[in-house]
Amino acid sequence: MILMEGLHKWYDQFHVLKDINLSVAPKERIVICGPSGSGKSTMIRCINRLEEYQKGRLVVDGIELTNNLKNIEKVRAEVGMVFQHFNLFPHLTVLENLTLAPIWVRKTPKKEAMEAAMHHLNQVHIAEQANKYPGQLSGGQQQRVAIARSLCMKPRIMLFDEPTSALDPEMIKEVLDVMIELAQGGMTMLVVTHEMGFARKVADRVLFMDGGQIVESNTPELFFTNPQHERSQLFLEQIL
Ligand code: ADP
Ligand code: MG
Repeated sequence: MILMEGLHKWYDQFHVLKDINLSVAPKERIVICGPSGSGKSTMIRCINRLEEYQKGRLVVDGIELTNNLKNIEKVRAEVGMVFQHFNLFPHLTVLENLTLAPIWVRKTPKKEAMEAAMHHLNQVHIAEQANKYPGQLSGGQQQRVAIARSLCMKPRIMLFDEPTSALDPEMIKEVLDVMIELAQGGMTMLVVTHEMGFARKVADRVLFMDGGQIVESNTPELFFTNPQHERSQLFLEQIL
């Protein structure tokens, strides 16, 4: 689904991604963790070209991104993304947030877009909030709306960038539960998170990043019981 080969990125002089090599199989669930500033967001944002890179190769679902900027729109149609801050349109209802892009970007007939939206709102257990505005919902509910909004674009890959770190503790579980269901449904997922319970439950692989590199890639069992690198050990001691 995703292939990164020798990917490098600089912000001016600052070498933020250093030789990233990663291959993600269909339906694989990958959790990415590591200290703040290690390049996690930058790496996953490269996948839908929210960030550009300067060196290396990137292929998403068979679509070659390197040196072919025309393919950006094709890739973005396949990749959904959920951010820490939900980025919903505050002046639109939940239902309008979900149908906006399908109707105006994808030219989906309104009735069909509404039906799909209700389907995905049911999927994230929030159908009863369809006519509310984001400001009337809790953080956990807003994040579930954001997930449903992504799903309305029929992505084949979902990227999550710390989707629960802006939430109060009591709301984290309702969002993680929805993500677990999505994983069980077979979605290919890359999730930047420090929720290690989630990693244990659904990740096929945990990547640990530090200083712009993937310094460890392992199954959750091995990563948690026997981290290979000193830096991953230190990190786990701090968060567990
Ligand atoms: P993480 O998500 O792991 O916390 P990021 O990918 O956000 O890390 O950032 C990696 C590094 O790149 C950090 O040192 C950060 O300050 C730097 N960085 C991020 N975005 C920019 C930018 N737009 N311009 C310059 N430096 C940036
Ligand atoms: Mg980040």
